[in-house]
Amino acid sequence: MTQDETNTSNEQLDEAPVNDPETFGGCPVCGKNDGYLNNGCDHWFYCEAHKIRWCFGENLFSSWKYETEEDFRRTRELLADYEVAPCKPFRDPKTN
Ligand SMILES: [Zn+2]
Repeated sequence: MTQDETNTSNEQLDEAPVNDPETFGGCPVCGKNDGYLNNGCDHWFYCEAHKIRWCFGENLFSSWKYETEEDFRRTRELLADYEVAPCKPFRDPKTN
């Protein structure tokens, strides 16, 4: 994962493939991600192989609005023992 400056906009986010590490960050070990899960309005991307997760942001995708407390609870259980990794900033103050 690089700390490249990004100009990602919300429109680009909607079109970006969800597993794209360039947009959403990647596992510090293998550089990939396995998509994301919502805990409330927080979006957690994760790498299943290395049990690493990183919070990409909140309320960037509308998917969380269609999930229930039960879904969030399952997400918390699943990701509870994952290690938290830093995520590259979605909006870098230098470029946005
Ligand atoms: Zn990994």
